[in-house]
Amino acid sequence: MISLKRPQEIELMREAGRLVAKALELARKMIEPGITTGEIDAAIERLFLKNQAVPLFKGYPGKVPFPAVACISVNEQVVHGIPGDRKLKLGDLVKVDTGCRLNGWCGDSAWSFPVGEVDAVKQRLLEVGEQNLHAAIHELKSQKRWSDVAQVMESLVHKAGFSVVEQFVGHGIGREMHEDPQVPNFVSSQLRRHDFRIEPGLVLAIEPMVNAGSKRVRVLKDHWTIETEDRKPSVHFEHTVAITADGPCVLTRLD
Ligand code: MG
Ligand code: MG
Repeated sequence: MISLKRPQEIELMREAGRLVAKALELARKMIEPGITTGEIDAAIERLFLKNQAVPLFKGYPGKVPFPAVACISVNEQVVHGIPGDRKLKLGDLVKVDTGCRLNGWCGDSAWSFPVGEVDAVKQRLLEVGEQNLHAAIHELKSQKRWSDVAQVMESLVHKAGFSVVEQFVGHGIGREMHEDPQVPNFVSSQLRRHDFRIEPGLVLAIEPMVNAGSKRVRVLKDHWTIETEDRKPSVHFEHTVAITADGPCVLTRLD
């Protein structure tokens, strides 16, 4: 069941969202050749703890509990990468995804960053992935149902010659990180059955994942990291977005 949020609740979610945005800004500033993904994760954890926020990813249940406060995925890794000793290199494409709960309300956001200059395919992926998220937010102003937004997102990716990851989708968010509804970045018969209205009070984590090659992905032996089957690069962009009486409002933003 979809729970719509009151305006005061959305204001509280904005506080959580702002802290998540700060965490991604911190990551952006740290990203350079030689830094490890574990160092970035540790800095985000310190930021959350300093602000009395509860990290949402650490301990997240799976075959093994997720061991870090951020998912950090590099190049062909799509999502759910485990931070550790891996050193970032010039030309890498790094995705940082994190979330926290502050005063009982959640925020969730992810961004993809180049490490220095990246090749033309990665550069184009970065552009198309970010455009895709912004297109979705823009479409929320006029569309009545999510399937209409998903259609625009899917078309944008296909027009660019890339593919949409289908195994992972966005989600409703509120007191819990993962609430109803599921928010796919493509249209399917399942979405037609579980389509939902765009209306004030709806709060969604919208998170397109775009692959340079095939849409197919697989999980690594660590039980978490998802990589593309063809090992071509992938990008991930996510914002927590509230629909208000004045239109869509990005909560995971600094200002
Ligand atoms: Mg996320
Ligand atoms: Mg999410």
